[in-house]
Amino acid sequence: MLLPHGVMFHHFHGGRHAPGQGSLSADGLHRLLDFLDPSRLLSAEEWLRHAMGGSLQPGMLCLTFDDGLKCQYDIAAPVLAERGLTAFFFVPSAVLEGGTLKLEIYRHVRHACFPSMETFYAAFEESLMRSPHASAAREALHDFSPTSYLPALHYYTDADRRFRFLRDRVLGQERYEEIMDRIVADCGPTGRVDLAALPALLWMSPDDVRNLRRQGHVIGLHSHSHPTDIAALALPQQEEEYRRNRDCLSSLLDEHIVSMSHPCNAYSPATLTILRSLGIRMGFRSMLEGGSTDPLELPRQDHAHVFAMMNAS
Ligand SMILES: [Zn+2]
Repeated sequence: MLLPHGVMFHHFHGGRHAPGQGSLSADGLHRLLDFLDPSRLLSAEEWLRHAMGGSLQPGMLCLTFDDGLKCQYDIAAPVLAERGLTAFFFVPSAVLEGGTLKLEIYRHVRHACFPSMETFYAAFEESLMRSPHASAAREALHDFSPTSYLPALHYYTDADRRFRFLRDRVLGQERYEEIMDRIVADCGPTGRVDLAALPALLWMSPDDVRNLRRQGHVIGLHSHSHPTDIAALALPQQEEEYRRNRDCLSSLLDEHIVSMSHPCNAYSPATLTILRSLGIRMGFRSMLEGGSTDPLELPRQDHAHVFAMMNAS
């Protein structure tokens, strides 16, 4: 019997939310929930009680939604309501305070402006070659062999490997964002992406989060600004990320926040100490492997794996 774990969801499509890599429709979510044994599925409050009391049992499951996405509110929450289910929603507070998360904007632009990943990769390299980082990129590509980069991730195409090499090894986050911000800006004027309207399309509002709580869902932390590697930040910055997130959500909902999920699965023992000092008592990883008995490191399985098992059965 499997360890008790959460099922992790991100993107949904339907209505004004266009399909994207890994997104589920309302119907897909229904089918996935049919596939999960309902007797194993706990309400969020019930899961939390068991997790905090140390009484989670093998096979127990719960549902979790990361990143405060509007598509979850529009597409998934009605499905949960219809089936009388509740879930965890882990919400980065920057988006509740009028900020944006670049990762999500890039994802949206990639799908909305480019007919395929290949056309996006071509535009990315074109923009890179017009940037001050062109000669460094050309030099790095000279010796680049896609077959020896990330060989363990066998589902990547050569183009995927080349893009990741440029992004992670040649550019690094800051310069990558420079290039991407230029692509985003170029997409705006064509009318394909209304940048001003994006935040309302991509993220929940404070009222949405309050409504979810009223419906019995549990709201938890996911850091303030969703760094891609929060464990790499200095400890005072990590503390600031989670303290701001906690203060925003607890004042919005007028309650203590006790749960969280680790953005991009990034954390260190010091991160867990910070979370404990902020009153957090239950946290989720983003994968099944590598968890511990610490209630701040509970395992989760990506919905895509459950979906694959369902289609294979
Ligand atoms: Zn996240």
